Parts: sequence; C-alpha cells; structure tokens
Amino acid sequence: MALIVQKYGGTSIGTLDRIKIVAKRIAKRRREGSSLVIVVSAMSGETNRLTKMASQITDNPNEREMDMLLSTGERVTIPLLAMALQELGCAAQSFTGRQVGIMTNSVHTQARIEEIRADRLKSALADGIIPIVAGFQGINAQSDVTTLGRGGSDTTAVALAAALSADLCEIYTDVDGVYTTDPNIVSAARRIPRISYEAMLELASLGAKVLQTRSVEFAMKYRVPVHVRSSFNDNAGTVVTMEDKAMEQELVSGITYNKDQSKVTLVGIPDRPGIASMIFEAISKENMNVDMIIQNVGQGGLTDLSFTVPRGEAPRAKKILLALGNEIDVHHIALTEAIAKVSIVGVGMRSHSGVAAKTFSCLSDEGINIMMISTSEIKISCVIEEKYTELAVRTLHETFGLGEDLSSAHEEVGH
Ligand code: ADP
Ligand code: ASP
Ligand code: MG
Repeated sequence: MALIVQKYGGTSIGTLDRIKIVAKRIAKRRREGSSLVIVVSAMSGETNRLTKMASQITDNPNEREMDMLLSTGERVTIPLLAMALQELGCAAQSFTGRQVGIMTNSVHTQARIEEIRADRLKSALADGIIPIVAGFQGINAQSDVTTLGRGGSDTTAVALAAALSADLCEIYTDVDGVYTTDPNIVSAARRIPRISYEAMLELASLGAKVLQTRSVEFAMKYRVPVHVRSSFNDNAGTVVTMEDKAMEQELVSGITYNKDQSKVTLVGIPDRPGIASMIFEAISKENMNVDMIIQNVGQGGLTDLSFTVPRGEAPRAKKILLALGNEIDVHHIALTEAIAKVSIVGVGMRSHSGVAAKTFSCLSDEGINIMMISTSEIKISCVIEEKYTELAVRTLHETFGLGEDLSSAHEEVGH
C-alpha cells in the first residue's frame, strides 16, 4: 500500500467546516487504499494572533516562551481533525511533535530538525491508524518545545515523508500549485506543472512562500517527490522533483518578492582594508543575518557601504555599529525600512545571457530605481522601494512572457 504524507495549511483548515471537508477528503483517500500520515498547521491567522498577544505583553518576548505559545495553534487543529475523522468512522489519532519524535536543535523560533524518532508513528500506521501530526513543532535535547520558523509545517511534512520513506508528500494549500509568480498579486500568473527541486529551492528562498525553503532542502536531499495542490478543488497542481526532460526548459521559471528586509547604509567610512571585516564581524557576533551587501567606489579615502538585515532589525544594527565608536568613524548611518527584494529565477539563465539587461531596462522603463543588485547562476535580485513591489513583479512577469507560452521569451534574449 502506498504511504502518503499529506499536509494541510492554515486556510485549508481555517474553520470547523473546512476541517470537516478536509476530513472527508482524507477518509476518501484512505478508502481508495492509501496509508496516510496527516500534518496540519494552525488555523489561518492563529499564529499571527498569538504573536500579537506576546507583543502586547513585551517588546522583547523570550524565545523559549514564544515557542511554547506559538506551538499551541497546531495543538488545537490536530484533535479537531482527529475527531472529525472519527465521526466519519476512521481510526485517527492526534500527535504532537514530541510524540512523533521530532528532535530539533535549540534555536528557538527557527529550530532545525536533527532527527526523527518515528517508532510511535510506525506502530500507529501498523495498527491502521491515521496519525494527525502537529506541524511546525519539535523538541530539543532538554525536551523544550521548539518551532521551525514561519511556514514550518511544510518542513514537518517533508521531513516525516523522508523519515518514513513515504512514496509521496502532498502539500495542500489555498492555491492549486506553484505559479510563475504569486497568483494573488498577478492574475496572469501561470501554474508550473513540474518544477525541479533546484528551481523550487531558489523560488522559495527568494520569497515564494507556497513552500518553506527548508522543506525543499529536505525534499531535494532525500529525493522526496512533493506534490503541491489545492484543498479546495481537484486540480492537477505542481510536482516538485528531479530535473527531467518532461520539464519545460524555461529560461525564467518565476518572479518572487520579499518584504522581509531593511537596508542599512554607512556613509563616508574609511576606504581601507579591515573596515568591512570589522563591521560584519560585529554584526554576526550579535547573530544578525546579512543578506545583500554593496560597496561604492571610494573617493578621497572614504566610501559608502550598504547592507540588508531582517526587517525590524535595522535599529539594532545601528546600535551595534555605533558601539564600534571611533574605530570606523561613522559620519552617518541611514536606515531604510521600506524596501523589497524582487527576484527573477530560472535554471535556464545558466546558459543564456541578457536576462540582467532586460530586467534592469524593464524596471527603469517604469521609473523604478534599483538600490542593490545581487546575482547567482540562476537568479537576479534587485532591491527597490517597497511601494513599487507589485508594479515591478507585474511588469517583469509580463516582460519575460511568463503568463504566456514561454518559447517566445527564449528568442528575445541572446544565447
Ligand atoms: P498555507 O497556509 O497553506 O501553508 P501559505 O500562505 O503559506 O499557505 O502559502 C500559499 C500562498 O503562497 C498563496 O496563497 C500565495 O499567495 C503565495 N505564493 C507566493 N508566491 C507563490 C507562487 N509562486 N506560487 C504559488 N503561491 C505563491
Ligand atoms: N502555523 C505556522 C505559521 O503560520 C506554521 C505553518 O503554517 O506552516 O507559520
Ligand atoms: Mg505555508
């Protein structure tokens, strides 16, 4: 019998009626002869609600307590779904992350799964029970509850599929697959029927939140086939798997955006060896992640340096820099909170040139200023003012012909 891990996201189980509908889908699949493990998120909006409650108590919530709080969202949906299945005559049981042996490191709110001790799940499956597992949570070596970062239920599902050597991991969400860009902001976005792990990893890490980045890393590492589908219809969805000939040999697979960053600019710092390392050592010592960095050409022994940090962390970065004091002689530190990173992603970019030029001219035609650029073999990212995000995404999507047959876009750039 095929073993399938299914994950239902927040909107899919956002109301009691939705939980009953999902239970019916699961029961049907079970009757059709699959062995199932179900992973669920909290009801939509719940994790945000809990986060807001914490922020009304303190500006600086303790991260261990935060995990204890946030993990409760999933504690509510697992028994409700189990009860809904029992009502339909299905043997189902709810399990927390701890009960199914999801062992993580101790990085509270961003924990990584280190091991899965799946004995309990295996014996439940052997008894014909449908396990309903709380996504997004695990425990560390001290048995403290940890969470896996926002969107972490995807990772729970793929990691369980890997640990159980499942045949397939199905991710049920509120869109019927992975699109060329967020279908909720560009109506012309097109569903991608099959996508490689590599392209999906890039789309996810650059902002396509339909799959959490770490879930794609797990899928790629353990070769778990992932099928992204809607729980609201029976449409075909998107298969995420190894690159193969049946995949569209697209130049650009998609456009992503992310509003999770802020920009810090140091104006007029000394242009000599050792300064950049001093700055970034101080920042990393405080566990702050830097994404993009840009340094201007120096003039008169001085230069400007900009970098991005997670949104909301720019003031802390400024404090760290000011603590360096006279050593770097900071004349001026400017913070820009409202930025967005818009990215063009495609494995086909490896063998084609011209994508960067086309991207920049498309943005400049719309009067959008590019503040920072970073590129890799298969992506180009531009930091722009946040207010232009939707315009940039829409026009880039159109410029690269993503809403239409992609073959025309191939011909427009040089080979
Ligand atoms: P869930 O609660 O089911 O985990 P999420 O909200 O985390 O759902 O992810 C689904 C959402 O991801 C969609 O509603 C859509 O707005 C967004 N999204 C962003 N980029 C993409 C993309 N390229 N393809 C599909 N969905 C995307
Ligand atoms: N409930 C968590 C969140 O909202 C995990 C998830 O939905 O995947 O981020
Ligand atoms: Mg999600």
